[in-house]
Amino acid sequence: MIKYALVTGGSRGIGKAICVELAEMGYNILINYQSNLDEANKTLELIKSKGVEGELMKFDVSKQDEVDGVLGTWMETNKETKCIEVLVNNAGIRKDNLLMWMSNAEWNSVMDIAVDGFFNVTRLIVKDMLIKKYGRIISVVSLSGLKGLPGQTNYSASKAAVIGATKALSQEVGRRGITVNAVAPGFIKTDMTHDLNEKDFKALIPMARFGEAQEVADVVGWLASKKSSYVSGQVISVNGGLYS
Ligand code: NAP
Repeated sequence: MIKYALVTGGSRGIGKAICVELAEMGYNILINYQSNLDEANKTLELIKSKGVEGELMKFDVSKQDEVDGVLGTWMETNKETKCIEVLVNNAGIRKDNLLMWMSNAEWNSVMDIAVDGFFNVTRLIVKDMLIKKYGRIISVVSLSGLKGLPGQTNYSASKAAVIGATKALSQEVGRRGITVNAVAPGFIKTDMTHDLNEKDFKALIPMARFGEAQEVADVVGWLASKKSSYVSGQVISVNGGLYS
């Protein structure tokens, strides 16, 4: 079997760094993205420069028909030769607003991508991992889902939901050699935080800086490796000491 890792939202930011990290570990990479083909292609080139195979996979994680259509078809077509050994649920968005002003769309879009996205993708893949008796499932959550941040009731709720799902699923599949964990970044320099001024937040962060996407990818890489074999149901913060 040729081994693959699937990274949702692999076209940019933290997901892109995770794709490269897993490629350096020898995994072939399925790079999911929603719309940004140019950036997805840049990630694909980087993957290939590491000497592994990569494939682009365009689907919206929140839409079950798209996930089943694209990912489900890939799994069925390749079931004799290829398997997904590592899943990283990384796709996510922010739509900040105070709760009293929050629109239905702001609430639903953030919840749907994080929570339904986790369900739609993980359910498909975990079935095959259960048969193979091995797997690594890692979700990128957030400081916001642990601590709660004002202006982010939608985002905090969505990430807290994924943390709960991570802990529950880890107990369902542990006997089959599958670990399920989450990584909770603080403030990381990506497109998602380009509207935040690092200087304004520096004083709050013990390490006095925003993190790099690679610093999150390093932790995800360890969780994806065999070295984390007895770690499951955990949330590892990568936040410069901001909150624990
Ligand atoms: P980013 O730079 O904005 O990238 C978001 C990625 O998610 C892109 O690849 C995007 O694809 C993809 N995406 C968005 N909606 C999608 C959907 N419906 N279906 C499939 N893919 C979708 O964000 P980031 O900062 O790297 O964040 C990655 C993860 O880390 C998110 O879950 C985020 O909540 C979490 N996080 C980030 C920070 C931070 O400070 N940056 C902190 C804590 C947690 P396209 O390129 O096609 O748009």
